[in-house]
Amino acid sequence: MKSDEVFRVRREELIEGLVREGILKSRPVIDAMMRVPREEFVLAKYKDLAYADTPLPIGFGQTISAPHMVAMMTEALRPSRGDKVLEVGTGSGYQAAVIAEMIKPEGHVWTIEIIPELARFAESNLKRTGYDTYVTVLIGDGSKGYEDASPYDKIIVTAAAPSIPEPLVSQLKEGGRMVLPVGDAYLQILKVVEKRGGFLHVEDSVPCVFVSLVGEYGFKRWEVS
Ligand code: SAM
Repeated sequence: MKSDEVFRVRREELIEGLVREGILKSRPVIDAMMRVPREEFVLAKYKDLAYADTPLPIGFGQTISAPHMVAMMTEALRPSRGDKVLEVGTGSGYQAAVIAEMIKPEGHVWTIEIIPELARFAESNLKRTGYDTYVTVLIGDGSKGYEDASPYDKIIVTAAAPSIPEPLVSQLKEGGRMVLPVGDAYLQILKVVEKRGGFLHVEDSVPCVFVSLVGEYGFKRWEVS
């Protein structure tokens, strides 16, 4: 079998497993995760592990999130065609590509990464896979959001925040949704936030462990769990 075919089969098996476990539920998320080649977003030495349901190192003490976590967060975020989405914590660019699959062709994803080398890694992954048309990678402290393209229909934070960053709340549209892990540096709860009638409605989802969001509205230094 050609290696593309091997990866496609592994991808299908992983996704079928996530559906069986009840983690993947909706057709658009299943289709998006079926289309995005995760092997193109991991370091070359981990390609063989691309479809293990685990986070993998991407360098600089950071990780590409586990597929089940990408599935859960995307299900909770509910991206839809035409949405303007902000992602904080680009990492490998994989989560941004999954969202791009769901908001294209009219929508757009702005994704911010604080480590310049990782922003460049993500940019090259997104370009190679053709998602660069729908995703803009920015370098900076995403805990402050990105005001220039705001307001957003959806905001996703893929690093652990000590609390919901205030600038992200103001950059979220009325009726918009935000998904983010909130807690200490070692354990967080995935929060699903909706802005309705000017108020925030916050629901707790599952416990999770993410690397820290470091910045003005995040932790003050790297704390690795
Ligand atoms: N979404 C990524 C993916 O699909 O590969 C995984 C993100 S990784 C778990 C968390 C990322 O958040 C790291 O790359 C880290 O450098 C980044 N990060 C931490 N603090 C940040 C901040 N204030 N602004 C932007 N990125 C930040």
